[in-house]
Amino acid sequence: MDPERTCPICTMPEPLVAADGFECATCGHEWFDDDDGVGEVRDTNGTVLAAGDDVVIVKDLKLDGKVGGIKIGTKVKAIRLVPGDHPIQGKVDGRTVVITSDKVKKA
Ligand SMILES: [Zn+2]
Repeated sequence: MDPERTCPICTMPEPLVAADGFECATCGHEWFDDDDGVGEVRDTNGTVLAAGDDVVIVKDLKLDGKVGGIKIGTKVKAIRLVPGDHPIQGKVDGRTVVITSDKVKKA
């Protein structure tokens, strides 16, 4: 399912799709498709990652602070990029996980 897009000004959902971004039908605000607050996300090798990329885990991860999370070599397919300290979001074994960019490399 696609994430729900809302206007950053008036928060109305379902913006109109414009040539290079979106336009709010309610207040007329226009914004670019990549203006999502994420910025540039680079993997451990410095490669810029994009939404939809597949990545491989290069360091063992803890989940919820517990050991036994995600092992090195685990592939995470079709990542999403989200704002914040853990900009990579993906699914591992059906669970949604968030990962810092220094723990992955592009597959
Ligand atoms: Zn609006």
